[in-house]
Amino acid sequence: MRRILTLFLIHFALFVGTAGAQSLPTDGPLSIKPLLQKLGERLLKGKTGSVVAINPANGEILCLATNSPQGSDVRLAIGKPYAPGSTFKTAQALTLLSEGIVDQQTAVECKNGITDGNIKVGCHQHRSPLTLKDALAQSCNTWFLMTFASMINDDFMYETKEEAINTWRSYMQSMGLGGPMHIDIVGEQGGLLAGADYLNRRYKEGWDGKTIWWAGMGQGDVTCTPLQLCNLAVTIANRGWYYVPHVHKETKNKRYLTRRQTKVAAEAYPPVVEGMRLAVEKGTAVGIKTTYPICGKTGTVENPGRDHSVFIGFAPMTEPKIAVSVYVEHGGFGADLAAPMAGLLIEQYLKGALSPQSSEKAKRIATLSLF
Ligand SMILES: [Zn+2]
Repeated sequence: MRRILTLFLIHFALFVGTAGAQSLPTDGPLSIKPLLQKLGERLLKGKTGSVVAINPANGEILCLATNSPQGSDVRLAIGKPYAPGSTFKTAQALTLLSEGIVDQQTAVECKNGITDGNIKVGCHQHRSPLTLKDALAQSCNTWFLMTFASMINDDFMYETKEEAINTWRSYMQSMGLGGPMHIDIVGEQGGLLAGADYLNRRYKEGWDGKTIWWAGMGQGDVTCTPLQLCNLAVTIANRGWYYVPHVHKETKNKRYLTRRQTKVAAEAYPPVVEGMRLAVEKGTAVGIKTTYPICGKTGTVENPGRDHSVFIGFAPMTEPKIAVSVYVEHGGFGADLAAPMAGLLIEQYLKGALSPQSSEKAKRIATLSLF
């Protein structure tokens, strides 16, 4: 597949990886499930990245595994904001549906991508036009760039582009993105969400929906930590709410016991959940199709060097028991590593063990070294 876009680099929040690794708290009891944690750590062998799993019902963190050439460091999951890539299309679809910018029937033509002036954005081979659910399942870049740009440029809905972008941002913040989530571990950092003030500073010569449309596909002026990505999956699993993720099992701190509601309209969740189901059923994540219904979204993040492999998801589709995010630096396509790793974690948690076939897959992934 051709490169998706001419990379548009932004300043990532600095990650200080040399100040000594940071591990999980030791003042238990913790909500981490030892078997799941062990599997996450095993799958990350030879790779830089993280595996996060959360119980959607109460915000308890079930797995917080990290690895790098220097060993594990929990800040890779909670203190390193990355471009979320196409996993972010879930949050985009929820926002656009809530604001009435799109509906389930909104169809966008895509002929292997889109050309705008001298910018060429590639896309996967798929039939055209696609509507929302299939645009999620096939991860159509054109659909998400065009619809996001049309929201920001909509001068009927919003008096100014500043109002449009700040409205967009308020949805994203309500899903736990942007600033730190205040997890009960030190070293957390939030990610970047473009707002009017930021964009007016950054693009002094002016900006509009097209300038920042990369955010529609999770590149450009948006970054999230793997923790935030996992929590995004939690909000979708719960169809609109979450508890601030935490590792201390018997916490009395009200911050972790207060249910937070997203700003997303209730009716926006079913089509996005179905789109994530389709992604696993017949779309970009078909490699992790199982007998129990997993909903997910892959991401392949352009950056200097080989792409980052990303996946968010939850299972089962109704009454989800686990939400997962996997982020593997330079792991290639989302479907290559992150999706199968998440699939194994979900199987281990829901089934209590891996099937012989899945054990083989886990062994293959564990022995793959990218260092
Ligand atoms: Zn497309």
